[in-house]
Amino acid sequence: MRLIIMGPPGAGKGTQARFIAEHFKIPAISTGDIFRANVSRGTPLGVEAKRYMDAGEYVPDKVTNLMVRHRIDEPDATNGFLLDGYPRTLAQVEELDGMIKFTGHRLDAVVVLTVDRDEIVKRLIQRAQVEGRTDDTEDVIRRRQEVYAEETEPLIEIYRSRDLLVEADGMGEVHDVTQRIFDALDVIPES
Ligand code: ADP
Repeated sequence: MRLIIMGPPGAGKGTQARFIAEHFKIPAISTGDIFRANVSRGTPLGVEAKRYMDAGEYVPDKVTNLMVRHRIDEPDATNGFLLDGYPRTLAQVEELDGMIKFTGHRLDAVVVLTVDRDEIVKRLIQRAQVEGRTDDTEDVIRRRQEVYAEETEPLIEIYRSRDLLVEADGMGEVHDVTQRIFDALDVIPES
């Protein structure tokens, strides 16, 4: 099973990604988590990524693509994976297509969480307080929403045109959202 979960910053992708990944026994691969782990370890990748993350900008495609390529080459991702936070740009979509094609597999579905914009910003401010994320000041939150709308939202139409899109209402209780995603995914045959 090769899946992508998409949605604006604060849509609850990470939470839902864990449940979906557990169900299909595949790793949930979060580019944001990998970047943050590198930032806290102070690796060269972390040092570079932090500059962009703290400004609410995307890390350059070259850097992100290489990181994902290495991650999905790991043995635990042989039978599939769920990508959370990737692809986020058109160039990343093309890169991922190439990576998957190379292995002789295909993408099974792209889950999109739809949420209310005001609710999102509220959630992000709460999360910033709880987790102390340096990339979550109010200005940065706003910038990240803009960048999402400009760079990532258009990808939804690409995946819709490929008949891969599975939309789920991301509002409400966590387990209700999970149920909606599972209901929507059940119609997709496993590969
Ligand atoms: P959120 O879920 O709040 O949108 P993430 O935790 O997924 O944020 O990512 C945090 C930051 O890491 C992003 O704002 C961006 O700077 C960087 N990042 C994560 N994934 C990508 C990607 N695919 N391309 C470029 N930058 C990325």
